[in-house]
Amino acid sequence: MALTLADAALLRSQNLIDHQWRDAGLGARLPVSNPATGEMFASVPDSDAGDARLAVDAAAAAFPAWSRRPARERAQLIKRWHALIVASQEDLARIISTEQGKPLKEARGEVQYGASYVEWFAEEATRICGDIVAEAVPGRKLLVLKEPVGVVAAITPWNFPLAMIARKIAPALAAGCTVVAKPAEDTPLTALALAWLAQQAGIPAGVLNMVTASREHTPGVVDAWLTDSRVRKITFTGSTPVGKHLARESAATLKKVSLELGGNAPFIVFEDADLDAAVDGLMASKFRNGGQTCVCPNRVYVHEVVHDAFVERLAQRVGALHVGPATDEAAQIGPMINARAVDKIARHVEDAVAKGARVVTGGKRVRTADGPHYYAPTVLIDATPAMELSCEETFGPVAPIFRFRDEAEVIRDANDTPFGLAAYFYSNDIRRIWRVAQTLETGMVGINEGAIASEAAPFGGVKESGYGREGSRHGLDDYMHTKYLCHGQLG
Ligand code: NAP
Repeated sequence: MALTLADAALLRSQNLIDHQWRDAGLGARLPVSNPATGEMFASVPDSDAGDARLAVDAAAAAFPAWSRRPARERAQLIKRWHALIVASQEDLARIISTEQGKPLKEARGEVQYGASYVEWFAEEATRICGDIVAEAVPGRKLLVLKEPVGVVAAITPWNFPLAMIARKIAPALAAGCTVVAKPAEDTPLTALALAWLAQQAGIPAGVLNMVTASREHTPGVVDAWLTDSRVRKITFTGSTPVGKHLARESAATLKKVSLELGGNAPFIVFEDADLDAAVDGLMASKFRNGGQTCVCPNRVYVHEVVHDAFVERLAQRVGALHVGPATDEAAQIGPMINARAVDKIARHVEDAVAKGARVVTGGKRVRTADGPHYYAPTVLIDATPAMELSCEETFGPVAPIFRFRDEAEVIRDANDTPFGLAAYFYSNDIRRIWRVAQTLETGMVGINEGAIASEAAPFGGVKESGYGREGSRHGLDDYMHTKYLCHGQLG
């Protein structure tokens, strides 16, 4: 399979360190594969700790000049980067679809979505401001400044190869930080293309450095950053076990840490909901990216009074989803990221069926002409808390339906998880809406809405879904610290 782009320069095969495109020091290569087939179509450096340290050398050297640059100049460069991303939408979407498996239409949407954070933070850069505090003692001025934390290490997952890394790099650069970044093993090409565009936009040498690595070498690369006292912040999106490891290891040098981790989102349909709107919301939030989304509903609770009507409408829509190669314009569900992902989905469905769930539609692996790594969009009923899919992210196109009787019971079940990223519910009762929204233990709540992410809103979780926020004005704060100046002898 070949990946043909209008601008072939976007297809990078080397790391970006200190403005230079370089191979890994030891020359190792990492194959990049088509998720549908596992067939290799490109390769990138398989970097190690030595490459990771070179990236920090460059970022640390670039920090003084970049952090002192007027905010408006930083903003202009980031805006130029934004314009190039938008202009390259079609090529970037093709790279995303080819390495990650998301249908082209969704990949175009991801480019727009990721670009919206870049534009937002370019604008926010010019609004960074501190405080002048009323003095407690005569003859003193008390001032509060916001300063960039320093070198930031960004580590990102494969499911949104452009948006996840863009929404870390953009606020870091806007705040005046410099960055070393490592994308996931499965999706390095999109990140390298973004780095190329940043370089074309005029982001100076060393300000953004990108290294790629295999699953085997990743711990060495990231450990080099964790143990380096010049790295002042770790920003991570990925699984909770890896997030906990990073939090533990960064304690030795007390780095600032932001963690966007796994979820187990409940989606609740109350008896007073608009059922068509609820079905639309579930289709949008559950089946986007084949269900490989941290905020996608993992448990769907439907009130017993509307259960059958809801399931019937949902099953019709899910059964009609078109499964096919990501680069097919008609595809709505592409391949899963790899064979392990398909095996996990199949295991969850088999476990649920063995424990009493019934398959309404789907429930099986699918082989297309393109390859074996597909799973049919699935609706299960009679799901219970004893099933694996109730406690663990399935990360696939499976909607398990749990029947419930009353509000107290469903809130208890919805909150009965160590995770707390997103929750959704549908109701037309205004008192219930406020009551439920305040009782759900998550960082984000969709009320009569299935697509909640926006560059203007704080994205992030509570409990074991992590801490820190991306997007909104809060997203910039995570890359700055607060310095207090006490200016005396003024009386
Ligand atoms: P993952 O295995 O935790 O990987 C994420 C990143 O961490 C990758 O770059 C990975 O590199 C790296 N990594 C893996 N093991 C590491 C280690 N021992 N030390 C340092 N870095 C390590 O997660 P994933 O499977 O790619 O992504 C899916 C998870 O991300 C899900 O749980 C999902 O919910 C979560 N997620 C959360 C959000 C959010 O905003 N909260 C958004 C998207 C995804 P390699 O690829 O080389 O292994």
